[in-house]
Amino acid sequence: MSREPSFRPILSAAEPDPAGRGTGERGEGSPVLSCEVAGQGPSCAQLPEVCESERRLRRAMWASGTSVWEWRAEGGLIRVDPFLLGGAEVNLPACSVEDFLQRLHPEDAQAAQDAWRAHREGQRADLEVVLRLHHDGRQRWLRMHGRAIERDARGEPCLVMGTLKDMTAEREAAEALQAMARALERMSRHDGLTDLPNRAGLEDYLAQRMAQGDGFALMQLDIDGVKDINDSYGHEAGDRLLRTAAGRLREVLQGGEASAVLARWSGSSFSMVLQPGSGETEVRTIAQGVIAAFALPFDAQGHPVSLQARIGAVLAPRDGATPVELLRKVDVATQAARGPVRNGLAFYGSDLEDDVQRRVRLFSLLRADAERNGFAFVAQPKVDRDGQATGAELLMRWPTEAFGAVSPAEFIPMAEKLGLIGLMGRHALHAAARLAARCAAAGQRLPVAVNLSPKQVLQPGLDRQLLVACERAGIEPALLEIELTESALLAGLDVVRPVLQRLRGFGFSLALDDFGTGYSSLSYLRQLPLSKVKIDRSFLLDIERDERALRMLEPMIRLCEVLGLSTVAEGVETPAQFEVLRRLGVPEFQGYHFARPLPVDEWAARVEAAGPVPIRLPG
Ligand code: C2E
Ligand code: CA
Ligand code: CA
Repeated sequence: MSREPSFRPILSAAEPDPAGRGTGERGEGSPVLSCEVAGQGPSCAQLPEVCESERRLRRAMWASGTSVWEWRAEGGLIRVDPFLLGGAEVNLPACSVEDFLQRLHPEDAQAAQDAWRAHREGQRADLEVVLRLHHDGRQRWLRMHGRAIERDARGEPCLVMGTLKDMTAEREAAEALQAMARALERMSRHDGLTDLPNRAGLEDYLAQRMAQGDGFALMQLDIDGVKDINDSYGHEAGDRLLRTAAGRLREVLQGGEASAVLARWSGSSFSMVLQPGSGETEVRTIAQGVIAAFALPFDAQGHPVSLQARIGAVLAPRDGATPVELLRKVDVATQAARGPVRNGLAFYGSDLEDDVQRRVRLFSLLRADAERNGFAFVAQPKVDRDGQATGAELLMRWPTEAFGAVSPAEFIPMAEKLGLIGLMGRHALHAAARLAARCAAAGQRLPVAVNLSPKQVLQPGLDRQLLVACERAGIEPALLEIELTESALLAGLDVVRPVLQRLRGFGFSLALDDFGTGYSSLSYLRQLPLSKVKIDRSFLLDIERDERALRMLEPMIRLCEVLGLSTVAEGVETPAQFEVLRRLGVPEFQGYHFARPLPVDEWAARVEAAGPVPIRLPG
C-alpha cells in the first residue's frame, strides 16, 4: 500500500475571472484547493475547522486516485501533487509545460496544447483532456481537468489549477469491450470455417455496392457432392474440403479479379461479387477458372474425390434493384445451371423462372411416379467383336404428360436428392430380371445390366433385394450385371468392398461404369471384385483421327487386361470407332452404331423371334 502523502494545504477563494470567461460549475467565488507556496496564505493553526475540512477532502481525493495540479505563469512550472498510478505513488517533479508535454504520447501532447489554447482563449470553459503518460515502461491513461482561476488584466491566465486522475483501468476495460464488440460484429458477418464474409456480410456489402451505382456481376457457385462427403467421411472431412474449395476460389479471383469479394452463402455455396463495371465477359472468364480449379481432385481423408461446381450469375442493376432481388435471381440461375443443357453456367433470364417452376413441378410428379412405378424401361444391346448380341443394359425412362420424356440425366439426380432412388432402383431391378428371364426362356443367355446409384449400394438390404428380384423372375444371379460408377466408391473402400464381395459371392457380375471420368480408377480396379470395366464414351471421341486420344485409351485397355478385367466400349457411334477399338482388342461394345436403346418389350420380342439363334446387330 502506498503512503498517504504529506502536504501543506491552503485554502483560497477563487478569484473572479478577470476576463469574465470560464464560468463553469465551479464558477465564481467557489472554494478551490491549492498547494501552499511556502510563505503564502493563512496557516492551519489559524483556521482549524477549515484545515480539517481540507484534510478530509484531500483524503477523499487520494482515496479516489485524484491528484491536484497547478500551473503559475510566474515561473511557468507545472506542479503535480503525488498521486497513485496503478497502485504506486508517483512524484512528478515540478517541470515546464514543454517538459510535461514531452512525457506524453505525441498525439496527446498536441491534443493537450489544443485544449489549453481553447481554454486560454475562452472557447472552452474548462480544460479537459485525456492523456497517455509513459510510466514504469507502461502507458497509463490520465484525465486532466482544470481551469484558469486567475487571469491578468489582458485576460491571460496566471494561475491554472485542476485535478488529475488515473483512468487506465476504465480505459482498458472500455477498449476490451470495444474489441469484444468488434469481434462479435465480425463474427456475425463472417463465416468461421472459411474466414469469408457470411450471408449477412454479403448482403451488407451488396447494399453498399448497389448504393455506389456502378454496374457489377454477382456469381453464385454451388458445389455438388459435399453432403455425400459429410455422410461418408464425416463433417470434418467435409469442412476441410470446403476450406480447400474456398482457397481455390480465392486463387481464381486473385488471378483475374483481385478486387472481387468472395463470400460463403450457405453450406456448400459461395458467392462472388465482381469488380465495378464487370459483366458477362468477366463472369465467363471466372467461371472457366472455377471449372478448371474444380477439375483437380479434392482430398477426403486421403481419398481423391471429384466435385462439380454449378454457377449462376446476375448483373446489377439489370437483374435487380435490391440485394434481395439479386440474390433470389442468382439462386434461380444457379438452380438452372444444374440442368443438363447449360454446362455448369447460367445467367439469369426470365425464362429461367419457368425452369425453376418446371423443376418444382417435376419434383412432385417424380414423387408420385416413384410410388406407382410410372417409368418405362428401355434396353440397349451390347455386342461382341462380330456384332453378335451379348446382352443389354436396362435404362430407365420417365414419360410425363406435362413435360414429355424427361432425361435420366435430369431425373436420376432429382431422385437421389429426394431420397427416391432406392424405390426407383427396385423397379429397375425387377424390370431387368424379368427381361433376362424372357431372354432365357427364349433360349438365349443374354445378361441384363442394371445401373445402381451410389445411395443404393449403401442400403443395407441390397443383396436381399437383388436375390428377391432374381427369385421372382426365376433367373440365376449371373444373368444380372450390376453397373456402378466410381462415385459409388466414395463411401470408402472399407465400406464398399465387403458389399461388393458379398454380391460377387452370390454370382452377380459387377461392372465399373463411366470408367476414366473419376480419379481413383487404378487403385479401385485392383482392390474391388469387378468383372468388367465400361470405358466412358468421352474416350472414344476422335479416336479415329486424334493420336493423343488413342494414346490415352490404349494403356487403359492394357491395364484392364493385366488385371483380368473384361472391357466394354460405351457410346460407339461410327464404324471407324468400332474398327479402332477392335484393333485395340476390346471384346464388347455398346452404342448407337449397333442399336439405340429400345423398349424392353421390343428387345424381348426380337430375342424371342430369334429363338436360340445368335442375334447379329448391324454395324
Ligand atoms: P449410363 O449408365 O452411362 O448409360 C449410357 C447412356 O449412354 C444412356 O443414356 C444411353 O442412351 C447413352 N448412349 C448409349 N449409346 C450411345 C451413343 O452411341 N452415343 C451417345 N451419345 N449416347 C449413347 P441415358 O439413357 O440418357 O442414361 C443416362 C444416364 O442415366 C445413364 O448413364 C445412367 O447413369 C443413368 N440411368 C439410366 N437409367 C438408370 C437406372 O435405372 N438407374 C440408375 N441409377 N441410373 C440410370
Ligand atoms: Ca450404365
Ligand atoms: Ca456409362
